[in-house]
Amino acid sequence: MNKNENLRVAAEEFAEKAQKLLSALEIAIVGSVAGDDPHPNDLDLVIIVRNLDEIAIIAKYARQMSKHYHGWEVFLFDEGLMPLGRVCHRRECPGQSIDCSVPGCGQPPYLRVDPEFEYDEKMFFKSPIDVLWTSFSMSRLLARKDELGIVESRRYPVLDIEIECILCGKTFVFTGSEQKWYQKRGLSRPKRCHDCRERTCMEGLSNG
Ligand SMILES: [Zn+2]
Ligand SMILES: [Zn+2]
Repeated sequence: MNKNENLRVAAEEFAEKAQKLLSALEIAIVGSVAGDDPHPNDLDLVIIVRNLDEIAIIAKYARQMSKHYHGWEVFLFDEGLMPLGRVCHRRECPGQSIDCSVPGCGQPPYLRVDPEFEYDEKMFFKSPIDVLWTSFSMSRLLARKDELGIVESRRYPVLDIEIECILCGKTFVFTGSEQKWYQKRGLSRPKRCHDCRERTCMEGLSNG
């Protein structure tokens, strides 16, 4: 297993346990582990919760990921996708450790609200997302995919979309795999259909 696969196992174990909690609504991997990067830096998880009633259990499940990897963060969000804070890494929170010395750590226990953390949702969700589990009929995160600029997800297939050609007005299909190909290369979506692309390309050639 490469490092990415290893961290993914940790994330899936966490999701399997946490999804049974009453307060849990959705769990996703964000950042490099969700993408194809074989050497991700850390494991960042998002858990959307109804309330913080079970944060101590969520924190316990999070700490159990440390047997695979210590560099994890679990970010808690409410149903409206507002950040609530992240899980404190300590077994006892609030405690004497440096982690809990952040003002706001441990209120409630196991919640770490970092006053330095400036939340910019577009930055936060800039990297790929892999929704591991959702209680909603459609993922709360992926429902805001376009708005937040979420680029990729593994579990949820990227759906084919139809685009109207700016030259001939015909609609053409921009398939899921084409979208991934374009996204990986940072290209914007095509504006012209295959025929028109070919035609303008030919014209370009004949014009010299
Ligand atoms: Zn703490
Ligand atoms: Zn066309």
